[in-house]
Amino acid sequence: MEVLISRYHPDKDDEPYMQTFEVDGSQLHSDAMLLELILHLREIDPTLGVRYSCQEGVCGSDALNVNGKNLLSCTTPLKSLKEPIEIRPLPGFPIIKDLIVDLELFYQQYKSVEPFLQSEPLDPQQEHLQTPKQREQLDGKYECILCACCSASCPSFWWNPDLFAGPAALLAAQRFTIDSRDITTIDRLHKLDSPTKTFRCRHIQNCTASCPKGLNPSQAIQSLKNRIVKGH
Ligand code: SF4
Ligand code: SF4
Repeated sequence: MEVLISRYHPDKDDEPYMQTFEVDGSQLHSDAMLLELILHLREIDPTLGVRYSCQEGVCGSDALNVNGKNLLSCTTPLKSLKEPIEIRPLPGFPIIKDLIVDLELFYQQYKSVEPFLQSEPLDPQQEHLQTPKQREQLDGKYECILCACCSASCPSFWWNPDLFAGPAALLAAQRFTIDSRDITTIDRLHKLDSPTKTFRCRHIQNCTASCPKGLNPSQAIQSLKNRIVKGH
């Protein structure tokens, strides 16, 4: 099995380069995920930098670009990938080392949409009830694991990560603007009424195509825009 991995050490390399590994596939499970292969390669070369944690598709920390597609390595079956397998860090973010990128701007954009419930009075002793229908409206909006596959596939985010909030943050923004318990909807939509922060989305839908949780940030952004244009 031929595997090409992007390598970059900021102290030694001027730019990333591809390193080729020949791997004996019989040393891996027949139903192995891609992460298992990467960890096997790290046994061969312990200097390989890679980020991962839960290995169950929940933490979102092992997002990578593989054969041109952003995905989670722990939920991608090895046998679903064509050879040679080309593994690169998520595009559009500064590389810290090898497959590890700096997600600071991604988290800053997420923080900028205030991704938490704002309700009055907020009494921790008191339940904030919803009807089943109100709760149902949040389906498809709250399951995001912040893996950044979407924002790392978005041309608008690549060019302006400091200005455009990006699909993950805007999906979260939509989630809180439609939450029946939140009392800041008008204020939230007012803050999102920006040609760069929200309207820089061109609905190419790369984000939706790359979401490993099957979410639809592009549709959420369209809905946000419609509400802003209609005056909420
Ligand atoms: S639909 Fe919008 S957010 Fe999604 S990839 Fe395209 S420009 Fe980016
Ligand atoms: S919307 Fe999907 S692709 Fe984007 S960060 Fe959330 S889980 Fe990842």
